[in-house]
Amino acid sequence: MVQEYKIFIDGEWVNSESKEFFDVINPATEQVIAKVAKGNAKDTKKAIDAARRAFDNGSWSNKTPAERAQALWQLAELVEKNKDKLAALESTNVGKTIKYARDSDLPFIIDNLKFFAGAARMLEGKSANEYSGIGISITRREPVGVVGAIIPWNYPLYIAIWKIAPALAAGNTLVIKPASKTPLTLLEFAKLAETVLPKGVLNVITGPGEIVGEELALNNKVDMIALTGDTSTGKEIMRLASGNVKRVQLELGGKAPFIVLPDASIEAATEGAVVSAFWNNAQDCTATTRVYVHESIYDKFLEALVGKVKKIRLGDPQNEKTDMGPLISESQREHVEEFVKSGVNQGARLLCGGRRSKEMNKGFFFEPTVFADVGQKMRICQEEIFGPVLSVLKYSTVDEAITNSNDVIYGLAASVWGKDITTLMKVANSLKFGTVWINEHGVLVSEMPHGGFKQSGFGKDLSMYALEDFTQIKHIYIDETGLVRKPWYYTVYGDKE
Ligand code: NDP
Repeated sequence: MVQEYKIFIDGEWVNSESKEFFDVINPATEQVIAKVAKGNAKDTKKAIDAARRAFDNGSWSNKTPAERAQALWQLAELVEKNKDKLAALESTNVGKTIKYARDSDLPFIIDNLKFFAGAARMLEGKSANEYSGIGISITRREPVGVVGAIIPWNYPLYIAIWKIAPALAAGNTLVIKPASKTPLTLLEFAKLAETVLPKGVLNVITGPGEIVGEELALNNKVDMIALTGDTSTGKEIMRLASGNVKRVQLELGGKAPFIVLPDASIEAATEGAVVSAFWNNAQDCTATTRVYVHESIYDKFLEALVGKVKKIRLGDPQNEKTDMGPLISESQREHVEEFVKSGVNQGARLLCGGRRSKEMNKGFFFEPTVFADVGQKMRICQEEIFGPVLSVLKYSTVDEAITNSNDVIYGLAASVWGKDITTLMKVANSLKFGTVWINEHGVLVSEMPHGGFKQSGFGKDLSMYALEDFTQIKHIYIDETGLVRKPWYYTVYGDKE
């Protein structure tokens, strides 16, 4: 019998008003691994009311920064204690390799909780001075209120923590909705959090995005909505959130370029491209998708790249030796296939992959795929595939590489590889992306911001900038003079002595 999960509202595990459950699948075996309550708009309203009460009664927001820090640290310790169990569950539910879930996702989740535990005590306004000459101005950072958060399926707990940790550090309360394909680790995290947080501070609602997510974006009692997801979902959220002018934070799609300058190390750059294109089963918003290689090293680069891609071990994600697991669903696999077809039809040269795995007869496996001679206007170069399809393009001048890299609607992450620091810095400064790595691709740290330009969204995850997103600034002015020496505009209200 598979495990059943209820939804978490106001500190209680309850059935959905719908009385229905939906199946959660292991994408490597296609087996049902859990049944999860199918929340609806009524459940979502209840959760929002709980979060509203918990915010307004100050059970969390009035705690001292030290108390909030202590709770976040406790959450980090609880996750650490349950690290192996959570990693195994994440691997089973998402299909990501066990080594990636255990050695990358979980350590970063723990580090993030610890970073925001510290950051909770560093909330500050930037100025306190006598700007008017006769009074003191103070800026005070306050929580926004009730935060709705909507999470994608590729990093279920990791991205949930990117929202939960700064939101809680700042004193907000939350209603959070995991992706329907991957709700399990967040539900398990809520079981840990219920022993630490006052009731109503963290609520988890599972259910369809078009119902639960839309209610969160629409509801007037929600003060802020944070989404990581597709750009089209982000546009819908912005529209829905306009009703009560909610604060909106959007982390959306990406189409990362990877520029290889003529003096780059082919060994280092091909290694970097392979890892960053295919990690997390190539379902990563910062993944390398477009490699721009200078014409002088193009053929050598392709040969080294394809040699490495062919060594990627596709298979059972629970096996320690596996490098790449399945895609998240059959529809995602069909979506990838459709892009491969379009690449072939538009004249790109298929160098490897391009088909379903022959070895794995169950699960949504797809071989790592490389296209060469890709044209800038081809669909595989312009649109987000979110699957294992890497495009390689040839360029002649650095300016051409910069122009083509910027020529997409996205602006999340990019990298440039080479030796001459002047050229590397020129390229990094010219790329219109929220993160640019030099001789690296994909490193994120808790202390530095992550977020997009253009249609990759706005607002930042990670770092003190995320804390800014989840707070609002108040100006408090203290008159220093009493009634003695008021400025000129007081004379408007009658004669003054
Ligand atoms: P989706 O936008 O389809 O789903 C994301 C979340 O939004 C899910 O919880 C989904 O619920 C919910 N949702 C879907 N439709 C609506 C709606 N109309 N109103 C409210 N909520 C809705 O994205 P994916 O889950 O497919 O994730 C992949 C996308 O996320 C990619 O585009 C990727 O680039 C992006 N991403 C961005 C990152 C970043 O940091 N910028 C990081 C990781 C991913 P349900 O599951 O129930 O459909």
